Amino acid sequence: MSSTAKISNALKHTEVNQKNFNLKPITPEGIFSFGCHPGVSCFNRCCHEIDVILTPVDILKMKTELNLRSDEFLKQYTTLQKLKGTGVPLVKLQMRENSNRACIFLDGEKGCSIYHFRPLVCRSYPLGVASLDPRQSESENEGQPTEARFIIREDICMGHREPKTWTLKEWMKDQGTIGMENDNKSWLEIVAKLKAMKMGEKQQHEISTFIMASYDLDTFQQFVFKSSMLTRFKVDKKTIELIRSDQLELLKFAMEWLQFALFGEGSFAVQLKDE
Ligand code: SF4
Ligand code: SF4
Repeated sequence: MSSTAKISNALKHTEVNQKNFNLKPITPEGIFSFGCHPGVSCFNRCCHEIDVILTPVDILKMKTELNLRSDEFLKQYTTLQKLKGTGVPLVKLQMRENSNRACIFLDGEKGCSIYHFRPLVCRSYPLGVASLDPRQSESENEGQPTEARFIIREDICMGHREPKTWTLKEWMKDQGTIGMENDNKSWLEIVAKLKAMKMGEKQQHEISTFIMASYDLDTFQQFVFKSSMLTRFKVDKKTIELIRSDQLELLKFAMEWLQFALFGEGSFAVQLKDE
């Protein structure tokens, strides 16, 4: 599959170049046929020369399973790029220089070496998702769907000729994407806002803050517990214990922090001296 397809799967607000794809809208009850297994003639072809954009939840899962710190994982397996026209920093998986630019986690004929903790975008394919209009306010969208799902059909992918049929919900359940999508929601909202604002080169502090809180959770943890942050802001004891012991909770806390640090929004509040 082409690079744009994988990016569009990962980021709801990425514009999709519809000319390069056959995109078929699908409702939650809609049915499509698809199968991907070692018996398909195209097996592993889509794991070459692609932009696999990682979300914070992907990075947390992968670095935990590989028993690495987040900064080690980022250095060893990823590169940083900016989302075109917006300046938003994105993390993508490295492709090998040789082996037809195969994904760094592709293990020859055996397939994906991290299948059980593969990224969201690899799980979701051939489903894509797009925001209907990220600039509309929530009140304007009240009661209306804020995203559209579609099936990506590319000539290279023989999976569409397989007889097994799925509803959208069945596919998402089978691929384990529902929980991951929920856990990524606030990050995608932040990305949508940053896209609308566009990040400039002069905003180095905001860019670094976004990178640390989104992708480098172990460094963010150090920032929380080793700086004066917990004395400068009101954070209750229960939350402190939770984020100390559970990195998914820490990631949720990081997203709240970003809402405050980047946009001055959300539930974070400054601790006044005599409180
Ligand atoms: S992570 Fe696995 S499924 Fe995804 S592109 Fe790499 S090898 Fe393929
Ligand atoms: S069927 Fe599609 S998704 Fe599966 S390996 Fe082939 S190209 Fe990739």
